[in-house]
Amino acid sequence: MRIVLLGAPGSGKGTQGKMLSDAKNIPKISTGDALRAAVDAGTELGLKAAPYMTTGKLAPDPLVIGIVEERLEQADAKPGFILDGFPRNTEQAQVLDAMLKRHGQPAIDKAIHLQVEDEEIIRRLHLRAIKEGRHDDKEDVIRHRIEVYNAETHPLLAYYEAQHKLVTVPGVGTLEEIFKRVLSVLS
Ligand code: AMP
Repeated sequence: MRIVLLGAPGSGKGTQGKMLSDAKNIPKISTGDALRAAVDAGTELGLKAAPYMTTGKLAPDPLVIGIVEERLEQADAKPGFILDGFPRNTEQAQVLDAMLKRHGQPAIDKAIHLQVEDEEIIRRLHLRAIKEGRHDDKEDVIRHRIEVYNAETHPLLAYYEAQHKLVTVPGVGTLEEIFKRVLSVLS
């Protein structure tokens, strides 16, 4: 099972991705988590990515593509994986498709879009700022991340729709309600 999770920042990709990863016993791969770990560790990747992350911009494609390519080659990702936060633009989606082909792996099965209204997104990101203290959950950065999502990531819905892989799930309600919907679109 090879899944892409789509949705604005704060739409629940991380949470639902983790639940799905536990239920299906396949890894969740989050480029955001990988980049934050690299920033914390002070690696070259982290140093390169940090200025983009703190301002809510997309990090350069080669950086995130490198992370995904390396991770997909690991044994635990061979039976399947859940991508959280990648692809983030059409270029990355095309590279992902080509990468799977090149590695002789089956294509993405489904792109699950967690749909949440902008106002709810802003509310959640403010809450997360208080709870987790993420540097990019600040008012102006939040706004910018939503703009970036709408401009660069939202077009991916059409990309996966054209491949007949897009399923949209309302991302509101309790975690269990949302997760039931996620499971039902996969069955
Ligand atoms: P996330 O945790 O997925 O919201 O990602 C946090 C930040 O990491 C984003 O605002 C970007 O700066 C960067 N990032 C994560 N994934 C990607 C990606 N696929 N392409 C470019 N930048 C990314």
